[in-house]
Amino acid sequence: MPLVPMRLLLDHAAANNYGLAAFNVNNMEQIQAIMEAAKETDSPVIIQASRGARSYSQDAYLRHLMLAAAELYPSIPIAMHQDHGNSPSTCKSAIEQNFTSVMMDGSLKDDGKTPADYDYNVSVTRQVVDMAHPLGISVEGELGVLGSLETGMGEKEDGHGAEGHLDHSQLLTDPNQAEDFVRRTKVDALAVAIGTSHGAYKFTRKPTGEVLAMDRIIEIHKRLPNTHMVMHGSSSVPQELQDIINKYGGKMKQTWGVPVEEIQLGIKNGVRKVNVDTDNRMAITGAIRKVFAESPEKFDPRDYLKPARDAMKKVCIARMTAFGQAGNAGKIKPVATREFARVYAS
Ligand SMILES: [Zn+2]
Repeated sequence: MPLVPMRLLLDHAAANNYGLAAFNVNNMEQIQAIMEAAKETDSPVIIQASRGARSYSQDAYLRHLMLAAAELYPSIPIAMHQDHGNSPSTCKSAIEQNFTSVMMDGSLKDDGKTPADYDYNVSVTRQVVDMAHPLGISVEGELGVLGSLETGMGEKEDGHGAEGHLDHSQLLTDPNQAEDFVRRTKVDALAVAIGTSHGAYKFTRKPTGEVLAMDRIIEIHKRLPNTHMVMHGSSSVPQELQDIINKYGGKMKQTWGVPVEEIQLGIKNGVRKVNVDTDNRMAITGAIRKVFAESPEKFDPRDYLKPARDAMKKVCIARMTAFGQAGNAGKIKPVATREFARVYAS
């Protein structure tokens, strides 16, 4: 099966009331973990890579690893997505590397850290849509700046994220503006700011509506019932993964992520893509730490990378099942980007 445009998967998810996890990758074992989880659960797949991940893995390795995934799992539709593109040129380079979907994050300027004004965001996002849709490539935009409603701080991960203090209005997507933004840019998916942030340290306690504004999602969905929303920074940071890391010599501070039941509420209200990275990173690290602690005589990387891959696969299966994408891969008729360009043109 060819890699498919992300829009194809989001439309199917919307028509059938489920959400899709979008997992970040930068190496072979992560891709293998996701694909094995998808095979076991019959799940369509969104794999994404940040700019940092592309530079770590190198585009050519990544491109061929994704082609290998498509070849090895012909029954699974896979979308390959650029996470947090900082400029039209980053999105263009992703498309040249076989990505079938790109995010133009115009909430920040192209330095990836300075909050941008609204007109700039509309302009660069529209520019990317105009470039991508004729090629059948999907586009995700972002409105509002990701960061913590507890601290007012933006956050940085993989070199991308707002710097310094942000006020409340910047940290929450405005529903009026969302309507205008979607109409003017024609994005396929809209990332919303609701108080989630990247990384493990999202909340200092189990989040309530004060710091995780699910009501914004409900409000935006009422205004834009046909827009696919994206929740960024939506790892759940499960206690058991924190405990495994710390039991085997790690030093993670106690933290809380986005509870799976809040994500499920989002999915009932128009969220179709849920970005998950930290949980997988933690699963991998915990599994490796365990082998190192229990079998310090071992030195073959496979002795710890296999358990690491299995641990990540378990997280992927849990999310695919909880978000409802399990059981849907076989129901999606694949459409290549070239054919999909005609859908956009019509
Ligand atoms: Zn993000």
